Amino acid sequence: MRIEEEIKLDYSDVLLRPKRSTMTSRKDVNLERSFSFYHSPKKWRGIPVMTANMATCGTFEMAAYLAPFKIITTLHKYYSIEQYEEFFKNFDAPDYIAYTLGIRDEDFAHLAQMKERNLLDKFSFICIDVPNGYLERFLEKIRELRALCPEHIIIAGNVVTNEMTEEIILNGADIVKVGIGPGSACTTRRMTGVGYPQLSAVIECADAAHGINNEGGNGLVIADGGQQFPSCVAKAFCGGADFNMMGSLFSGYDQSAGNLVEKNGKKYKEYFGSSSNKAMEEFYGKKDKHRASEGREVLMPYKGDLENFLQDLFGALRSTGTYIGASKIKEFSRRATFLRVNRQLTTYLEQFDTGN
Ligand code: 5GP
Repeated sequence: MRIEEEIKLDYSDVLLRPKRSTMTSRKDVNLERSFSFYHSPKKWRGIPVMTANMATCGTFEMAAYLAPFKIITTLHKYYSIEQYEEFFKNFDAPDYIAYTLGIRDEDFAHLAQMKERNLLDKFSFICIDVPNGYLERFLEKIRELRALCPEHIIIAGNVVTNEMTEEIILNGADIVKVGIGPGSACTTRRMTGVGYPQLSAVIECADAAHGINNEGGNGLVIADGGQQFPSCVAKAFCGGADFNMMGSLFSGYDQSAGNLVEKNGKKYKEYFGSSSNKAMEEFYGKKDKHRASEGREVLMPYKGDLENFLQDLFGALRSTGTYIGASKIKEFSRRATFLRVNRQLTTYLEQFDTGN
């Protein structure tokens, strides 16, 4: 047994120090970024924000809505080949959509059928996703995926430490998805005791990924989960995240999936973790007897049109940029100085943001 004494940080453990800047308006802050990649020869430009690949937000409806904003929708993995064929009759924005698969044989069989029917060409991104990215088999499957899809931008995760980030990139991924346990519908920390404070995970994994580079580009990371407010998205960029992936922040809107529920005169939309009992029953028909649920069901207050959130998010990110003197998302991490603060203070202030 060993104890690591170094303090690890979550989003609510820090604030950003304001800095003198020459900018005159929030409009001066550009939210788009361009990337080239370590393995994939593709180039990408857009707002580096994406939905989680969850049943409530990784949907075709969301992709159709978000693509014009240049935001990526990471689809959940439960669509059939026929559903993909139907959807792609009217959708053609490969840069803003990601196909998701796991590491089971069924997942690779689905991928093979997608490839055979030329459906993979409709995606720039493929996301290979497991809750625990520390399994030896995961690296094998990343290598297999890279061999099958040499041109695609491959996202792989989830992990939270530098050495595994490096392994994942060297084994074929372009982007590493970072986060174990921070998700709002996730109970991994409570059930297993495993996890890593998310801001530190992002900082350490980004540092490792960015250190791996070739003439194509360097390794990249996605901060996945745990962003409760737009400020968390800004803090993740400041910590070195290249992309932010969110589930709950995209939930509760007209465009989000999940039933609308009324309770005590208030409206809610359902949001549930990908390994919640509800997801296991809904998509696999039963709960695997070797698995405990590591996700939960949440009722999200209904918030109307998703455009309300996008305006808030874009406005907030531009405002962060103005406060810290960064005119582009790319500059956030260079300009950022984090102040370690008493977490009670930020969580106390956040109560007022939500009106709770
Ligand atoms: P959120 O934005 O809601 O805080 O987090 C979304 C992220 O939570 C997802 O992208 C995924 O990484 C993670 N997640 C989603 N469902 C589950 C689940 O059932 N269990 C766990 N451990 N993590 C989940």
